[in-house]
Amino acid sequence: MTASKLGSTVLGYPRIGPRRELKKATEAYWAGKIDEAGLQQVARELRAETWQELTAAGLDSIPGNTFSFYDQVLDTAVLFDAVPQRYRDLGLSDVDTYFALARGRDEIAPLELTKWFDTNYHYLVPELGPDTRFRLAGDKPIADFLEAKALGITVRPVIVGPVTFLRLAKASGHLGFNKIDLLESLLDAYAELLGKLAEAGAEWVQLDEPAFVGDSSLTELAALKRAYNRLSELETRPKILVASYFGDLGEATGTLADTGVEAIALDLVTAPEQRIVPALRNKIVVAGVVDGRNVWRTDLPTALGKAATLLGSAAEVVVSTSSSLLHVPYDLDAETDLDDAVRARLAFARQKVAEVVTLQKALTGGESLPATETAAPLRNDHVRGRIAALRPEHRTRAEYAQRAAAQQERLKLPELATTTIGSFPQTSAIRQARAELRKGTLDEAGYTERMRSEIAEVIAFQERIGLDVLVHGEPERNDMVQYFAELLDGFAATEHGWVQSYGSRCVRPPILHGDVSRPKPMTVPWSTYAQSLTDRPVKGMLTGPVTILAWSFVRDDQPLKDSAEQVALALRDEIKDLEAAGIRIVQVDEPALRELLPPRSADHRSYLEWSVGSFRLATSGAAVATQIHTHLCYSEFGEVIDAIDGLDADVTSIEAARSKMEIVADLKQVGYGRGVGPGVYDIHSPRVPDTGEIVELLKVAAAAVPGERLWVNPDCGLKTRGYAEVEPALTNLVAAAKQVREAR
Ligand code: GLN
Ligand code: ZN
Repeated sequence: MTASKLGSTVLGYPRIGPRRELKKATEAYWAGKIDEAGLQQVARELRAETWQELTAAGLDSIPGNTFSFYDQVLDTAVLFDAVPQRYRDLGLSDVDTYFALARGRDEIAPLELTKWFDTNYHYLVPELGPDTRFRLAGDKPIADFLEAKALGITVRPVIVGPVTFLRLAKASGHLGFNKIDLLESLLDAYAELLGKLAEAGAEWVQLDEPAFVGDSSLTELAALKRAYNRLSELETRPKILVASYFGDLGEATGTLADTGVEAIALDLVTAPEQRIVPALRNKIVVAGVVDGRNVWRTDLPTALGKAATLLGSAAEVVVSTSSSLLHVPYDLDAETDLDDAVRARLAFARQKVAEVVTLQKALTGGESLPATETAAPLRNDHVRGRIAALRPEHRTRAEYAQRAAAQQERLKLPELATTTIGSFPQTSAIRQARAELRKGTLDEAGYTERMRSEIAEVIAFQERIGLDVLVHGEPERNDMVQYFAELLDGFAATEHGWVQSYGSRCVRPPILHGDVSRPKPMTVPWSTYAQSLTDRPVKGMLTGPVTILAWSFVRDDQPLKDSAEQVALALRDEIKDLEAAGIRIVQVDEPALRELLPPRSADHRSYLEWSVGSFRLATSGAAVATQIHTHLCYSEFGEVIDAIDGLDADVTSIEAARSKMEIVADLKQVGYGRGVGPGVYDIHSPRVPDTGEIVELLKVAAAAVPGERLWVNPDCGLKTRGYAEVEPALTNLVAAAKQVREAR
């Protein structure tokens, strides 16, 4: 190996296209409107644009293979032939097999989809079993490299690293099968790939090992060591950059530094204090000092300072983003509607690349940094004053027993009360009304009228089905976070700020840029209208502070906790207004509670303290007789089970159908003694559960929870389903509750 140079870089780049060209092309392909050649053409243009843009911006090292038709983990699984037999048996073309893995096909479910670390990007979980035989089955990174080379650009292919790949994969349930046993055969395949990349002319390859910013076992660290010893000892290979992001690489830094890899990337935005081991002296350190996953302009002097302190501790220090830029929108300049004071504080992918280049020139060329004016965030002294005055009693309600008695006295609900999670099917009529409002062919008053008639239908429907606690159906909400962000001060919306969530699904997260406050009630007119139509209780529906933060870009000039408390105060006021308007039950959804959990368990406690604290701040102003519900989903609650108890909600509805009610026993074990509604119906599938199977699930739950505390509800909201399924499913749900009630 010759002495290596890398130079300024970014760890990855958006791929959906500045105008979501990839989304449009893949969806057109799925709908049969364009053929594969048409799809490949769009992909090729997007790749070329990205490489040319990054080259023109002056980056020294351009990441390659950042393009994907769906997801980079799926790409890696397919590249190394980890395709379960049932997908092969479909006998489809390569590209259609790929999409079958991602999206399923008639009778075949797709691979499981799950969140990429603590981001809102989702990857497909590879399935590995004793029959998995890794081999280099494709050439995607090589073809991508050659395509760039033909344009005169040498890229650094980016590939998920072997150990992170294994850690993220799911092992089939075969007894005695351990996925780490597959490491050697996987390394054979990586070795072959690296050889071919070198032959094609690649000077560098980037292998991503973000799994190691989380807790790692000794076995996992040993696998990391083995993998990079082996790969770095290959005779023919590009230089290797191992990239970490989203946290502190911790003990794995030393492990990697002791192998023969040339460069290591560290996230110095999330974990600025991470340990720089002496062995890094022979390595290139890629200093992630520009935030790759948030939208704020970099404070250049601070970032330069962070990179400069490493100068004596590494063979070369290069400036980079802290993670791939996949998680931020393309270009701030595309926005025309942003407030100037907010815009002055923002940087999207394009602007961040320019920051990296500027910082590198300052670091190694001694160029001075351009002067930047800083705009102050929107400040609200009233909100700050209220937060400063908070006391423990602002997060505490009366004893549960007292609340339960007062609520039952008022609500008079049966045992095993039935309800839903909030949303009802978003029909084409609802979507059309929203589109007309946007186009201006429908005015506010007309829109309100249409939403009200939808609410009236949803209420009548629920009464007919016989549910005990009703909802208004959330027709007026495009999205459960965006809806509130648009009504709160301190948030901004973008026109083109799309980021990939999964596959062709893109989201436009709101930007929480300043102090948050509520200019006027947000949900009261809808909820009170719904309640005016029925004698049964209608739940008020709010999104909780943690979920609002998790699905937004959040200001980074103050701790998340402070922003969460401001949102919580706005919700607290909303609950007061709902109560005053006669609403007796309020549900505060926190589906993202688990999502923001930090990667290392040492950091869990402080996270759970502030997240639970903000929920309690939002809800504890409620009267004793007001019943507070919360809703959690996206499974795997094991790690936050104590926190669920800590929320102190009167009723917690929680996804449980697929795991067959396991959560009920878990909750019982931690002494949870309030209301619980374990989902009895998996809303992610169009399948209608029959009464008998719901009865079986309810019997399991009823064995652990007394009837007056057990609720009967689906797993989650019904907005993605149609009435053709919802009607029989809810009918069966009500019948099942009745059967179990009567058998007692
Ligand atoms: N109330 C929301 C709904 O029913 C909750 C959605 C969620 O948990 N993701 O749609
Ligand atoms: Zn849910």
